[in-house]
Amino acid sequence: MSGVTLSNLSKTYNPGSKDSFHAVKGIDLEIRDKEFMVLVGPSGCGKSTTLRMIAGLEEVSSGDLRIGERRMNDVLPKNRGIAMVFQNYALYPHMSVADNMAFGLKLRKTPKSEIQNRVQEAADILGLTEMLGRRPKALSGGQRQRVALGRAIVRKPDVFLFDEPLSNLDAKMRVQMRAEIAKLHARLNATMIYVTHDQTEAMTMGDRICVMKDGKIMQVDEPIRIYQSPDNLFTAGFIGLPQMNFLKGVVEEDATGVHFVISGVQELRVKLTDQLSGIARSNRAVPLTLGIRPEHFALCTEDDPAAIPAEVEVGEPLGAESYIHLLSKSGDKLIVRLSGIIQSGVGQLLCVKPDLENAHLFNSETGQRL
Ligand code: ATP
Repeated sequence: MSGVTLSNLSKTYNPGSKDSFHAVKGIDLEIRDKEFMVLVGPSGCGKSTTLRMIAGLEEVSSGDLRIGERRMNDVLPKNRGIAMVFQNYALYPHMSVADNMAFGLKLRKTPKSEIQNRVQEAADILGLTEMLGRRPKALSGGQRQRVALGRAIVRKPDVFLFDEPLSNLDAKMRVQMRAEIAKLHARLNATMIYVTHDQTEAMTMGDRICVMKDGKIMQVDEPIRIYQSPDNLFTAGFIGLPQMNFLKGVVEEDATGVHFVISGVQELRVKLTDQLSGIARSNRAVPLTLGIRPEHFALCTEDDPAAIPAEVEVGEPLGAESYIHLLSKSGDKLIVRLSGIIQSGVGQLLCVKPDLENAHLFNSETGQRL
């Protein structure tokens, strides 16, 4: 069993000095055996530091790190049963593809025939058989990244660690390698921990996603569950592209029901669903933010009671769908995502209405979803 358990794990760089920095703040995370876990978050949130502590490239400041049953805090990296794939590939330029892949095994004095078999097997899996004699400089970025993957595979680790492995590839190659790594996970049936700042990679690759911010974990769950039920404003805004729209407002109740008045502008009242009404009623004293994903808007006419009139700032027809950036009368910016090609001119007035069955209410102060 090769699950990875982080218990109250912390990292402080340069402790005791004026440059001291608390990069990872007592996180708890259980990565299951054979799971593909993605650590995602903005630059500086501590995801690479967390991965490097698991790899043994950074010392753990406090807390416990276990791989399987074994406490690994003080175990040498080479004895942790892990293999890491880096963003910059870290290949030796003077060695052939085969030698690059074999290097770690040679250091471990693995028998030659065993090395050959493992390199051949990894090359087959990755489609590198024809390239085993080449040097890295004679390979494309995608092929180099495959060699780096091959070097990890031949070691037959219990846990694969990936640190932004696709960042140096162009967009098309990234999509292809994303699928290849996912296939590799299915084939090798190993535990994989993957760090990225790219929410699309997180959504498409992870069995579960761990969203991080400022050295803390904001939410851990399956991608779709995070998308549909974000725990807080941060996760709601970070996962999903274009990002969720956030509207501040006040709640008013009259004989017709409970209304959310956007930015307090009386003409911009939307009637809340029964479920959201209940939440709003029990949080009367709380400043509220309504969260609505761009796809949960539809075009409507001006006389629709739920209409939000707004001016087009930018229209982005993408073919299958269009993103329209709007400025509402309340001064709030909105992005709506409509299917098909919607031609709209800058300054044009459009009316959109939100689908409140799919909206979320957040406490604006704490950021928590209500
Ligand atoms: P990125 O996507 O930019 O790599 P990250 O989420 O992986 O970001 P980390 O590399 O883990 O972030 O860094 C977390 C914080 O720790 C950052 O603020 C960074 O500046 C700081 N940090 C990282 N390494 C060191 C170091 N060796 N000494 C001091 N501070 C460091």
